[in-house]
Amino acid sequence: MRAEHVEIGAALTLSEVERLLAGRLPLLDAVLPQFASRLIRNGATIGGNLGTASPIGDLPPALLALDASVVLVSAAGEREVPLDGYFTGYRRTVRGPGELVRAVRVPLPPAPVAAFHKIAKRRFDDISSVAVAFALDVADGMVTRAAVGLGGVAATPVRATATEAALLGRPWDEETVRAGAEVLAGEGTPLDDHRASAAYRRAMLGQSLRRLFHEAGAA
Ligand SMILES: Cc1cc2nc3c(=O)[nH]c(=O)nc-3n(C[C@H](O)[C@H](O)[C@H](O)COP(=O)(O)OP(=O)(O)OC[C@H]3O[C@@H](n4cnc5c(N)ncnc54)[C@H](O)[C@@H]3O)c2cc1C
Repeated sequence: MRAEHVEIGAALTLSEVERLLAGRLPLLDAVLPQFASRLIRNGATIGGNLGTASPIGDLPPALLALDASVVLVSAAGEREVPLDGYFTGYRRTVRGPGELVRAVRVPLPPAPVAAFHKIAKRRFDDISSVAVAFALDVADGMVTRAAVGLGGVAATPVRATATEAALLGRPWDEETVRAGAEVLAGEGTPLDDHRASAAYRRAMLGQSLRRLFHEAGAA
């Protein structure tokens, strides 16, 4: 029987995750080399990245695009929460007192068109100004699945639901990408801060879909 999901233990370091997944989730393969540096990935855990609930953490946008859920555990037992419902506000989550992230579950199979665009000032050891994670399926030239996770454009990591709706069921072509990029540029509520201006963040969002189309190519 084929597994229906991959379960990743929250206490695994990111280097261990990279090694143990062995390419089963191409979107995470795209994220992890861009996450800080090997030194940090040897110590940093998925549980810690979700525990900080930072709006600019790198894993949440990717895990959102992968439709992941988190398994929370406390003395009272376990519960599974879709990651989409995990973040409740700036660095806030649904976790109750004494509740920890035990694992992350990612449904299989993952969407084949996967990319992670991290916009940061430095190549290594820097946090994103904006991050965009794509997980798309294109069959017979049509977008049959569209999931887009965003970081750095709201108080929490978010799904780009309007963009997803603009892509789903449309031909994967320049016209759809042009229209989708306009929608994507309007997602979230980006702020001006020391990392980037709101206008730059919006421009990077729109550019991201064009870049995906250019790099993934028409199906
Ligand atoms: C130089 C440097 C570069 C960095 N670059 C990046 C980057 O590129 N991208 C990025 O996203 N982050 C980056 N970070 C931030 C940090 O490394 C990550 O967020 C990392 O995943 C945290 O994991 P940790 O195991 O070290 O967590 P810790 O620092 O140990 O914990 C972080 C928080 O999460 C809580 N926590 C830990 N485990 C759990 C759990 N299982 N359940 C619930 N809560 C938990 C802790 O109590 C704490 O509040 C960087 C940090 C540094 C110092």
